Amino acid sequence: MMKEIETRIKEVVKDLFTQNKIDLFIGYSKGSLPLTSSPCFITKSEDIEKLVWNSFCSNNLAVYLPRIFNPQPRKKEKIELPRIGILAKGCDARSIVVLIKEHQIARDNVFILGIVCQGMGDRKKIRNDIEITGAEEKNGRITIVDENKKEIELKREELLSDCCIECQHATPPIHDILIESGNQRPAAPKGGGRDFEKKSIEDRWNLFQEEISKCIRCYACRQACPNCYCRECFADQTKPRWIGVTDHISDVMFYQIGRIFHQAGRCVDCGACVRACPMGIDLRVFTHKLVRDAKELFDYEAGVFLEEGLLLATFKPEDKQEFISEP
Ligand code: SF4
Ligand code: SF4
Ligand code: SF4
Repeated sequence: MMKEIETRIKEVVKDLFTQNKIDLFIGYSKGSLPLTSSPCFITKSEDIEKLVWNSFCSNNLAVYLPRIFNPQPRKKEKIELPRIGILAKGCDARSIVVLIKEHQIARDNVFILGIVCQGMGDRKKIRNDIEITGAEEKNGRITIVDENKKEIELKREELLSDCCIECQHATPPIHDILIESGNQRPAAPKGGGRDFEKKSIEDRWNLFQEEISKCIRCYACRQACPNCYCRECFADQTKPRWIGVTDHISDVMFYQIGRIFHQAGRCVDCGACVRACPMGIDLRVFTHKLVRDAKELFDYEAGVFLEEGLLLATFKPEDKQEFISEP
């Protein structure tokens, strides 16, 4: 099925270039390591053959859109906006909805090639004592080849990322063309298996400190997240300087609390920040709590409905207000 989808993607992209509907297409190409893929930027039909579709097309491609539509430095004269085609799984499309609602991208200039997602794999779920020298995906099974040329066969489902196991929105909520995947994922467990909120406040704080103490302030989580599009992040500002630049726990906590809380009502739970982290910090433990709070307190899920107002910019008299301090 993956190959059929890949062929269909190439056909659609070819048509878009032939009909002069786009200037650039953002999809995936083969990664430099087995079981990886890389974001790929196609500007001419001759390069369409580079496009791939497999179980490791994990990056949230929406991250590139604000950078393309808001180049730095912002020019005073009106710039001609490019026409972008983009491949979008459910989570990428939800990020696109968030970006449209936050006025970061021009909907009319984006052609969304949606794919009903079957879930993406997490390479880290393969035993880390295996050196993967090759891999092939066929009929829902993934065969990896180790350093001794031994073949090990795995079921695709065994490798699914945690966010994909729990995903409730595999179908892109916005698209111009939709490619069906044929093989629907089994219904995901609602709410996930996280036990973070069952812990006492003290235990949550300890867990937060323990996880965050591994952070080296590389900012890969910020760079991978479509919601982190500020031209100048509060962590980089020098006038005023909000936080120190060290990896001392107090500086790191300030950065993490700032970034995580900026995701309230905006995080689409794509897991891009977790995949990007070189220190293996499971940032989803914290962002997923915000996702659940938005759903449980306000019945709001980021990026699902384009017409719905933004969570933090909308007041409803019936909103829960326990968190507001009385004067
Ligand atoms: S989070 Fe959902 S839409 Fe995104 S890759 Fe996973 S299953 Fe697909
Ligand atoms: S915070 Fe992480 S999971 Fe949430 S949208 Fe950003 S990259 Fe995706
Ligand atoms: S990617 Fe990981 S190590 Fe880098 S800043 Fe984010 S949490 Fe810290």
